[in-house]
Amino acid sequence: MTNAKAPASDNRDGIDQDQFLTVLSREDALARFEAALLPRPVPGEQRPLAEALGCALSEDVVAPIDVPPFDRSNVDGFAVRSADLASASEAAPVRLRLNDEVIACGSAPTRPVLSGTATSIATGGPVPRGADAIVMVEHTQPSGSRAIEIRRAASPGQFVSYAGSDIARGEALLRTGTIIGSREIGMLAACGIARVSVARRPRVAIISTGDELVQPGERLGPAAIYDTNGAIVTAAISENGGEAVFLGAVPDDEQRLEAAMRNALASSDMLVLSGGTSKGAGDVSHRIIARLGEPGIIAHGVALKPGKPLCLAVCDGKPVIILPGFPTSAMFTFHDMIVLVLRKMAGLPPRSDAKVTARVPVRIASELGRTEFVMVSLVEGADGLIAYPSGKGSGAITSFAQADGFLKIDALADQMPANTQAEVTLFTPHVRVPDLVIVGSHCAGLDLVTAPLARAGLSVRSIAAGSLGGLAAARRGECDFAPIHLFDEKTGIYNTPFLMAGLELVPGWRRMQGIAFRKGDRRFESLNAEAAVRSALADPACIMVNRNQGAGTRILIDRLLGDAKPDGYWNQPRSHNAVAAAVAQHRADWGMTIAPVAHASGLAFIPFAEEHYDFALVTARKQRPAVQAFFEALASQQSRDALAQAGFRPA
Ligand code: AMP
Ligand code: MG
Repeated sequence: MTNAKAPASDNRDGIDQDQFLTVLSREDALARFEAALLPRPVPGEQRPLAEALGCALSEDVVAPIDVPPFDRSNVDGFAVRSADLASASEAAPVRLRLNDEVIACGSAPTRPVLSGTATSIATGGPVPRGADAIVMVEHTQPSGSRAIEIRRAASPGQFVSYAGSDIARGEALLRTGTIIGSREIGMLAACGIARVSVARRPRVAIISTGDELVQPGERLGPAAIYDTNGAIVTAAISENGGEAVFLGAVPDDEQRLEAAMRNALASSDMLVLSGGTSKGAGDVSHRIIARLGEPGIIAHGVALKPGKPLCLAVCDGKPVIILPGFPTSAMFTFHDMIVLVLRKMAGLPPRSDAKVTARVPVRIASELGRTEFVMVSLVEGADGLIAYPSGKGSGAITSFAQADGFLKIDALADQMPANTQAEVTLFTPHVRVPDLVIVGSHCAGLDLVTAPLARAGLSVRSIAAGSLGGLAAARRGECDFAPIHLFDEKTGIYNTPFLMAGLELVPGWRRMQGIAFRKGDRRFESLNAEAAVRSALADPACIMVNRNQGAGTRILIDRLLGDAKPDGYWNQPRSHNAVAAAVAQHRADWGMTIAPVAHASGLAFIPFAEEHYDFALVTARKQRPAVQAFFEALASQQSRDALAQAGFRPA
């Protein structure tokens, strides 16, 4: 029989067209990974108590002594025989002779308490022979120099802690797998245990890969980015019981990377790389794995979103994982697929994530066939928690900081319909519903106004959803107010024409929109906006950068361009900053942005029109303390000065 299969795509230098031919489901990939790895705790080690904090016990601890080790007085008073006081009352006080001894903490009694006598004893002192109860000093009266009078009966055992009543010798004190915290350390110390057997933290080596990566603290050259995964993965490994050893970023060079991977594996229990897992040119780490040990790659391509390029391997019993390059993809795959294995190796129980149910107000489209994770911000609605999708795409790291948790869309679903009640896994142990919720168009000026609120302990959540998205959220009562900048072409008025019932407009500030270009560009210098655009259109080599449809800025650009669609027209980024970056980095020659952003990028600026950035306030939420605090801050001289300083003109 001839081999009818097409030759395997093995073009090492070109782009492999058969990327991820065998994508496994999340469940399949996990099952195969665990079957190949049999993850179990790395061998335990003995640690002094002081160094065991946060470790997991690798053996049960049995109490070697009784705690307390002897019968002990709980109060300051007198050790007595309860039978002597059976008849004591206000009318018939009992007189007891004092023994010639005072039992302090740490002093062993030497004389018995015989009938008709008592011995002075301090809290914590050992109860002397013969005594079976303690009478508080407050309930006695001196009677001459060597006796006391007592006017109430004492029950046997009164104010005595018996030996072993706290911890009994031979009792299982702590179980294997218990995480040692301060309370556990206290219990161990009480039993006199100085060393414990704990699961050794698995040593996990971390390598970032990519020619473009620069470590934080170093200078960012052109086309370089800061290594984010190195820092995140290192922290996440420590959070989950590993001893993280970050080995830096290695360029996409097969030889250097192989040497680094071999070194890393030789001295660790697990290796986590990130980047270079697509099966394209320059992506080399997955090819190296095959040479590092058996059985090699277990899964390359998992039906996750984000995170499809995840690569799971086992080399001579050690897990080797290549996380996708995009930081959010790296994080989701790490938490969903790797943490479980890491915790097993660290002898830790599975992580218990807190979950809440929340209504998702908008429809979320999802790719059929991939388990999808969507980050959400939680806000309080009229009828319970609301989960707002807050992802900016798998390349965005800030989505993590702004999100409270994530929801999962099943691989078999192609969408999550609006108003689904979804289960949200929290990033933190508790929901922290923000005091102030802002949904709409974001502006750097907003951060200046909310700064004093944060200092006053109010939590502010600002969700960037654009002006129209903000208005929709405000109408549904999902936020306190929506920052908007919408120009009505019919009336020539900003914002007011867009308000609906239940909303009122609070003036914010003005932002000067205009043409940004590089200083010294003769085509634009000393022209007004109309003339500058005419000049740009007259030069076929001149490239513009546009804005997205629906942006207030786009309306102004269209007004200047008329019917012209010059080179660069279809480059339509979604933010003022992206426009300035495109011009500053010579990818475009001009674009429309706001003055503060142009100036921050070192660009020249031709003013064109002042845009009104105002707040559509939900009237029903007006009296909330955080809302009041915001508008007080907005009106304050401090905010007005800060806004003016940043290039905005307070209304
Ligand atoms: P790759 O899988 O190497 O093609 O990377 C996919 C994307 O993630 C690229 O945009 C990389 O620049 C980016 N990336 C890869 N590694 C890192 C990292 N350690 N930190 C931040 N971004 C990264
Ligand atoms: Mg790369």
